Amino acid sequence: MFSGGNAKSLPLVGGLSEPTINQLSNPGRRASRFPKLDVPVTEINNPAIRNDKPLLPEVSEHDLVMHYSRLAHRNFAVDLGFYPLGSCTMKYNPRFADSMANLDTFANSHPSTPAEFTQGNLEILFELEQYLIEITGMDFATFQPPAGASGELTGLLIIKKYLEENNKTNKTNIIVPDSAHGTNPASAKMAGFEVVEVSTDDRGMVNIDDLKNLVDENTAGLMLTNPNTGGLFEEHISEISNIIHDVGGLVYYDGANLNAIVGVCRPGDMGFDIVHSNLHKTFATPHGGGGPGSGPVAVKGFLKEYLPGPIVIKEENGLNWYTPTSSIGRMHGYHGNFLVALRALVYMKLLGKEGLDKLGAFAVLNARYLSSVVSKVIPLAYNEPCMHEFVTTVKHLKKSHKIKASDVGKALLDKGFHSPTIYFPLIVEEALMFEPTETQSVDTLDDLAETLKVIINELQGDDISLEEYPKNLPVGRPNELIPAKHLTVNWGDFELLEITE
Ligand SMILES: *Cc1c(COP(=O)(O)O)cnc(C)c1O
Repeated sequence: MFSGGNAKSLPLVGGLSEPTINQLSNPGRRASRFPKLDVPVTEINNPAIRNDKPLLPEVSEHDLVMHYSRLAHRNFAVDLGFYPLGSCTMKYNPRFADSMANLDTFANSHPSTPAEFTQGNLEILFELEQYLIEITGMDFATFQPPAGASGELTGLLIIKKYLEENNKTNKTNIIVPDSAHGTNPASAKMAGFEVVEVSTDDRGMVNIDDLKNLVDENTAGLMLTNPNTGGLFEEHISEISNIIHDVGGLVYYDGANLNAIVGVCRPGDMGFDIVHSNLHKTFATPHGGGGPGSGPVAVKGFLKEYLPGPIVIKEENGLNWYTPTSSIGRMHGYHGNFLVALRALVYMKLLGKEGLDKLGAFAVLNARYLSSVVSKVIPLAYNEPCMHEFVTTVKHLKKSHKIKASDVGKALLDKGFHSPTIYFPLIVEEALMFEPTETQSVDTLDDLAETLKVIINELQGDDISLEEYPKNLPVGRPNELIPAKHLTVNWGDFELLEITE
């Protein structure tokens, strides 16, 4: 037990030579011990029981802790540095929200427990729903979708069912801007619609003339993010929603990035009928790496009965579950990722109304400040005042010095900053998209801008080759194509891969 560290001394950040947990295994070592049996020993006779022991790694507790701590320290994290990944809203997640989600009564309550015994949990969802519909300007919400993409699919299935029930089956087209997040066209297609792309004008906004030409009696709806993926507010948003409503279509708001508008304006007032919000982005749950999220869908009153069920309703003697009458069905087991919803409510309560009213304003202020300092080094893609994020381009530097957006991203990583989002939105060549969020100090923003200046100067000079960065990280430039084409899920096969370009 607790047999000290592994004899080999390992560098804190080794290259890919870091041993796997299986390689650290030493027969007989244990990290835990079961308590003495306090029940009689019983033979289990079941043909499914295996004859030989599984090949599990055998390590001491210290080895185990060291191994995973080393791996964790090789990763970049919001808690380690500035993470300006545009469109992903990597803000600081207060520990307090996590501590609430870890409370036994929340973490261990079973979702099958009857409503009368879990009034507190129902209250969490009900209260959060009230806040969310106030923030978005909608009337009812479901917390089932576990992510933004799933919220989109939910919203589109609601549009589909609504149109079907109203005998408008000719409406087969969903209009999506060419700047949209990739999940938008994917969700529309998955829901059985045809995707029609509307172009972006020179200023980075929906091309209204193009939209007018595309809209007809087959238009089922439009999906839009506002501020859009260029970080710009669609000035003609009311006209846009009127164009769609005039032909009997519905308007869907991709509210994954609600950050810019919280406390400032509401999709419901802009004419949207359905909104999904990414609680994990805007309302601070640790995300990225595929962890649990929450993409609640809020709708205007006329769509309530299409929501996935059950939803929470208030009755005379307390809160209860209710399954809407024309529900599209379930999008997730039980009530979605309850603990993510809980964290969002805690975050909202931490900020209070006063704080929430400032959230959007500060997110925009930070982005505008950062864009003003960064644009002295890298030009903006659009010369419009940005909202919560902004897009720059190094296409000129690519021509003059062969500098690619990915080179800048890799160099930033090496200097302690996470890369901004690169090559997105797709319509901007060599794009770098920055989103500082409201949780960064002005000093951090200045640091990033200064570092970018140093990097661009270095890359423009002759003494550094573009492929040199990153120089100090455990992994250099992995070939991103091979893992995408040859999925390897077995650690033993990993070394067979040619992993550097
Ligand atoms: C992040 C994002 C999504 C997808 O959200 P997930 O929770 O990752 O599924 C959709 N649209 C926009 C604009 C986003 O930024």
